[in-house]
Amino acid sequence: MSDCVFCSIAAGEIPSEVVYSDDLMLVFKDVNPKADVHLVGIPRQHFSDVAEFSLADSVSCGVFIKKLAEIGRAHGDFKLIFNTGAGVGQTVFHVHGHILAGKITGEV
Ligand code: 5GP
Ligand code: ZN
Repeated sequence: MSDCVFCSIAAGEIPSEVVYSDDLMLVFKDVNPKADVHLVGIPRQHFSDVAEFSLADSVSCGVFIKKLAEIGRAHGDFKLIFNTGAGVGQTVFHVHGHILAGKITGEV
């Protein structure tokens, strides 16, 4: 999607601090962190939210969430948050999981 900031990050057109990358997905540091560790995980393919992703490709969605949990666990106890819909604060409409660990300093 040409006007999607996370598609642009996946394509390398917008710089980000990548901590994990493979053919399916990318994990990078949130530009406005709300915790000691605040990472954002996205699939490379564009889906608007986790509901759409899981319906379209439940196998890839499962692999995606498994990897996010592994990365979160590497930081101890963690939160994995998928804001789904503007009504609960989703601002970027490319599915993404927030990984929060350490001291939490704000809400996502
Ligand atoms: P949402 O509110 O949609 O669940 O979360 C979107 C997140 O993406 C926010 O935490 C915001 O700080 C982060 N974000 C938005 N634009 C960029 C960007 O260009 N680079 C990075 N690294 N994070 C971004
Ligand atoms: Zn996108």
